[in-house]
Amino acid sequence: MKYQKIQNFINGQFVPSSSSRTLDVISPLDGSLLSTVPLSSRNELDTAVSAAQKAFPGWSKTPIKERVQVFFRYKYLLEKNLKELSDLITEENGKTYSEAAAEIEKSIELTEFACALPQIVGGELLEVSKGIECRTEHVPLGVVASIVPFNFPSMVPNWTIPNAIALGNCMIIKPSEKVPLSMARIASLLKEAGLPDGVFNIVNGDVEIVEAICDHPAIDAVSFVGSTKVAKIVYQRATNNYKRCLALGGAKNHLLVLPDAQPDMTASNVVASMSGCAGQRCMAASAMLGVGNVDHIIEKICNEARKVVPGDNLGAVINKASKERIERYITEAEQQGAKVLVDGRNAKVAGKEGGTYVGSTVIDHVTPDMAIAKEEVFGPVICIIRTNTVDEALAIENANPYGNAAAVFTQNGRMAKYVIDKASAGMIGVNIGVPVPREPFSFGGWNDSKFGVGDITGKSSIEFWTQLKKSTVKWNAEAGINWMS
Ligand code: NAD
Repeated sequence: MKYQKIQNFINGQFVPSSSSRTLDVISPLDGSLLSTVPLSSRNELDTAVSAAQKAFPGWSKTPIKERVQVFFRYKYLLEKNLKELSDLITEENGKTYSEAAAEIEKSIELTEFACALPQIVGGELLEVSKGIECRTEHVPLGVVASIVPFNFPSMVPNWTIPNAIALGNCMIIKPSEKVPLSMARIASLLKEAGLPDGVFNIVNGDVEIVEAICDHPAIDAVSFVGSTKVAKIVYQRATNNYKRCLALGGAKNHLLVLPDAQPDMTASNVVASMSGCAGQRCMAASAMLGVGNVDHIIEKICNEARKVVPGDNLGAVINKASKERIERYITEAEQQGAKVLVDGRNAKVAGKEGGTYVGSTVIDHVTPDMAIAKEEVFGPVICIIRTNTVDEALAIENANPYGNAAAVFTQNGRMAKYVIDKASAGMIGVNIGVPVPREPFSFGGWNDSKFGVGDITGKSSIEFWTQLKKSTVKWNAEAGINWMS
């Protein structure tokens, strides 16, 4: 085993879990054993929540300009340790080094936004009648929780950690049991950056801890990122317990490709979108809607896809079950009449036989009723559905229950605007395959890709992590000055 057993991080210390239940942490790159992760019990969550509750009065009363100093130092530490952090992500998640490094760069950008919060979060003040002022201020909630998935071991936790904590909350995070190593490193960097004990806590675990978070009376808000199936469970359970909850789910992102699209740019964008991070991104292109004759672009897409080589510029998928699921979708579609133009099944990487690789895959003539056309595949696969018109393509996109992202490739501005207006997704790209809004813009989908109000990052997250206090103050000593006094 390459690393020591994973421990929880409670009240500023790494502590061994008392649970006897553990899981192996396996590297998707070669199947080697990296560590073991404890599946903690409810008692351990209670201890973490108590530590966070104890830290809250001091932290929430620290002025925000002082609180963000921790995140200026944390940002510097992310930059300083970029290589080590990226290597760790690659090992536990299986993505390539450059994808892992991009994840740290994005974590840095997220932290920069948190550092800027004092410039953004100020409340309002207005003299509403003579001598009387109304004032608003954003007040932290208390103890908040963040439950995260496996596909971005650093970026997704950093969607929530800097903003929630800089805004004065104390946090419990539940890492994905598949990638717990990066989170432990994040904890040590936050400590090194000077975050007071108890403000940030990690409780490793599985369903039991997630349920305990949703039920815990002292946790005020729960953010969740993961599959739609679990997002619905978490949203229902947390809100049923009267908690504020924002739960981001899975995705099925459609790219509309029009015949006038610039062929080289479109082909490289489509392939980058569907195969980046081995297709394990909630923003990955999954279904391409080819409108009219786009054969010349499909040919280029296939050429680009063949340049994506497992173990070189294409990472591994998270585990054997994932690889089997992805390959099953491809085989089923083929059996139902779709044409596999570039086949990534049975990919092998020499010297890494224990790794779980799927090659870049392009499937043409998929029909909207096939499972591969409707469901989240979460692998480096693009299925092409042919349509005659943009409206036909939009009808397919609109009918899908998800709504994270959609994109259109065209040089016609009027058509681009038409798709922006009609697509039923929270994030739209024009000639961009992965339309992730960058700070200060916020990230969040629609429909079954997100449950709850607002977005998880950027300015929108301020509303989620705080509550507004409204005070009305009379400075005027005179009585009966107006109808309100
Ligand atoms: P997942 O839903 O299996 O797990 C997410 C978290 O929930 C993990 O911490 C896990 O331990 C926990 N969990 C799993 N099953 C549970 C259950 N039955 N009850 C309670 N908790 C449970 O997701 P994953 O496989 O880790 O991540 C991939 C999914 O996340 C994909 O669907 C992807 O689209 C989605 N995702 C969405 C976004 C977004 O912004 N919308 C971002 C990243 C990932």
